[in-house]
Amino acid sequence: MSESPLIQTVTGPLPAAEVALADGHAHAWIQPPDGVTPGARLDLHDEAAICAELSDFRAAGGTLLVDCQPGGAGRDVRALARLSTATGVRITATTGAHQRRYYSPDCWLWSASAEDAAAYFVEELTVGTRESGGTVRAATIKIGYEGAIEGQTRVLLEAAAAAARQTGALILFHTERGANVEALLPFFTDRGVPAERLYLCHVDKRPDLGLHRELAQAGALLGYDTFARPKYDPDRTTWPLLAALVAAGLGGHIAVCLDMALAEMWRHYGGGPGLLFLPEQIVPRLRALGLPASTIRDLTGGNIARRLVWRAPGAEESL
Ligand SMILES: [Zn+2]
Repeated sequence: MSESPLIQTVTGPLPAAEVALADGHAHAWIQPPDGVTPGARLDLHDEAAICAELSDFRAAGGTLLVDCQPGGAGRDVRALARLSTATGVRITATTGAHQRRYYSPDCWLWSASAEDAAAYFVEELTVGTRESGGTVRAATIKIGYEGAIEGQTRVLLEAAAAAARQTGALILFHTERGANVEALLPFFTDRGVPAERLYLCHVDKRPDLGLHRELAQAGALLGYDTFARPKYDPDRTTWPLLAALVAAGLGGHIAVCLDMALAEMWRHYGGGPGLLFLPEQIVPRLRALGLPASTIRDLTGGNIARRLVWRAPGAEESL
């Protein structure tokens, strides 16, 4: 094998092979814009607390966070870069469009054409993000998908397809508990974006093993993130899904995630279980399942790391 391919982080390139332990769907900073209703406000911008939490994660072997807040919805890549530099945890940023409730009511994305939205996504991926003045680039394209390919969601999905075709970047989807997630695969493959470039998040909230097997066999990456959320009963949903997919030889299609958008989930905000839940609880439980170390490393870092590397259109995925 030749040199390790590179991941574009907020502090520069990172060889994918160096990712040992990653939160595949993370939130390291959210400062909501004006006009967001109180119910949709996620405030996560106490820099000292976040810095302390990331330092703990780094000390426990944590290497990468895949930040999932796109521009205009509370992202600040300058803060992400400061946090990364201060703690040594590498962070990728995302462009794209989340659900509308996270934006100012007058945000241009909600009346943008697919061409204009695609140009913005490509600019943030290849030139630089808006708030950084073009100095920090995004690595992924996020789309908030509630289950219906219609209206402005359809426009933004078209834009994501165009931007992924141009750049080879991974598209990550917020799904509403996996609602109608199966419709995304034909939509994108029809537009020249292979399933291997699609990362379907929150799908373990729809614990349909047959569906998960089909999505994985088609090539998609599945983000599982309810491990630390008892209300979703992960012992009866996420863990059995993970075990079954690994047993079926499809463990290369799962990314383990914490998705700590709520400050109350952070230890250094006085809550829990915190980022250390990944090394302290999830990894030991994967070991207790008897999984080989290489499989555990893939589930908790390698799988997402390889997907974060952009793929030239038409290039074979080596997963
Ligand atoms: Zn999230």
